[in-house]
Amino acid sequence: MSISSQIQFFESQLAGTNCRLVTVTKTHPVERLQEAYDAGARLFGENKVQEMAAKQPELPADIEWHLIGHLQTNKVKYIAPFVHTIQSVDSLKLLLEMEKQAAKHNRVINGLLQFHIAAEETKTGLTLAEAEEILQSEAYKSLQHVRLTGVMAIATNTPDETQLRREFSELSGYFELLKSRYFTGNEAFREISMGMSSDYQLAIAEGSTLIRVGSAIFGSRN
Ligand SMILES: *Cc1c(COP(=O)(O)O)cnc(C)c1O
Repeated sequence: MSISSQIQFFESQLAGTNCRLVTVTKTHPVERLQEAYDAGARLFGENKVQEMAAKQPELPADIEWHLIGHLQTNKVKYIAPFVHTIQSVDSLKLLLEMEKQAAKHNRVINGLLQFHIAAEETKTGLTLAEAEEILQSEAYKSLQHVRLTGVMAIATNTPDETQLRREFSELSGYFELLKSRYFTGNEAFREISMGMSSDYQLAIAEGSTLIRVGSAIFGSRN
């Protein structure tokens, strides 16, 4: 299967839904990213700062770059000039650094609050209580160059559909709760980023607005 036929396949799967495709391009060379772009992909996801910063200047300027991996605060500066959304916001400290770096470039960086929903201990992310603590803080309320646009999570790596559905529905529940408590009337707060190559259909059924798909488009990573 070619990259372009896979992009077209996902676009047809998403037609008529409220969900968009984030093409996960990590580990792949820019030639393959260009191929995805030529087939219509516009939202690209990378999990490493250096890799994203190296690829971005080589590709068309209208790509929306989404950082989907854990981000150390000292690295925000490398992507601040262009990154569209940091999907892996897991601390107030990171939001404050995003504010500082985005301000330097006179722009706004979007962020998704990353939640821990998986059974595995290793997967990072916030609890609901931690997220609410951030949203209630004066420091958060003073941000001018950061816009929270929704939530994100990585589900457990399991074929168990019941468990996956439960985890996706948990994230949708967090989104609805935060929307009603902190973002009523805020049109920008609308994204639920969940679902990958193996489980995107379940994620869409549970309300995903951004699926993050890599291997189903590019083949398996080495
Ligand atoms: C790599 C990655 C993906 C894509 O995974 P595939 O199984 O290749 O579709 C999605 N989300 C995150 C956070 C990732 O790191």
